[in-house]
Amino acid sequence: MSVEYIFTSCLTALSPSRLPGLNYSLNPYTGCEHGCAYCYSPSVFKDQSIAESWGKVVRIKRNIVETLMQEVHRKDRGVVGLSTVTDPYQPVEKNLELTRKCIEVLLEHDFPVSIQTKSDLVLRDSDLIVPKKFDVGVTITTIDPELARLLEPKASPPDARAQVLEEFSGRGVDTWIFLGPIIPEINDDEENLRKIVEIAAKTKSKVLYDKLNLKPWVMERLEPVLESLKPGLAGRIPPTISHGHDYQKIISSKIIPLCRELGIKCEAAFASGAAGGD
Ligand code: SF4
Repeated sequence: MSVEYIFTSCLTALSPSRLPGLNYSLNPYTGCEHGCAYCYSPSVFKDQSIAESWGKVVRIKRNIVETLMQEVHRKDRGVVGLSTVTDPYQPVEKNLELTRKCIEVLLEHDFPVSIQTKSDLVLRDSDLIVPKKFDVGVTITTIDPELARLLEPKASPPDARAQVLEEFSGRGVDTWIFLGPIIPEINDDEENLRKIVEIAAKTKSKVLYDKLNLKPWVMERLEPVLESLKPGLAGRIPPTISHGHDYQKIISSKIIPLCRELGIKCEAAFASGAAGGD
């Protein structure tokens, strides 16, 4: 599937963030060509056309580096989340290097950066991503490459993501795994969860976990994938993960003992109620 790229400009580079551990969010792109079937970033924009074109259209904030260069002089220092509603290392970044240039500015002005990605392109910037000033988080939903291809069509395969953690952890950079979204009957089996926690143990990465979030437009994109895997599952999922059923407690009861057994720190993501995109 081809992706349409549209150049736009932005008024702000650093936006205040309510996400745990972040002061700002920085999103060089609007839209994400990784095109994950469960992505709920479109709901942040509250715009049907953005939701319907998610994965097919990427807007490029052509002046984000210049905007950031001005803001770093007048905004208080704080942790910058890169990124919260897009993937900073999606394929278009390979040529444009907007993320890399933003990182250079943030590093020079002493803003700590928390990176979250599903792409091994982040390794390109390992000359800039140094211990103490950066942490690197990688989302891993499944260790099955075929399932990953269905859920996250253009992201790096799971073993390449594990390699990212190995490389950065080996260089002394703090690393973490975002284990989510956990989807009933798709990736919530003990074997999958154990293998992901084992990657965390091997790479000394903290685990943050989260269940599927059925924000607006999620089910429209996820349903065909679910139906191709398990006919009828799409109808069973909303009642399973609703507050009444408390699916979060069920996944906690699976993940916490695994992390304890392997000596890994873990916690439920967004326990404060805030929500992220990637
Ligand atoms: S979940 Fe993250 S990587 Fe996937 S499409 Fe959404 S923003 Fe991109």
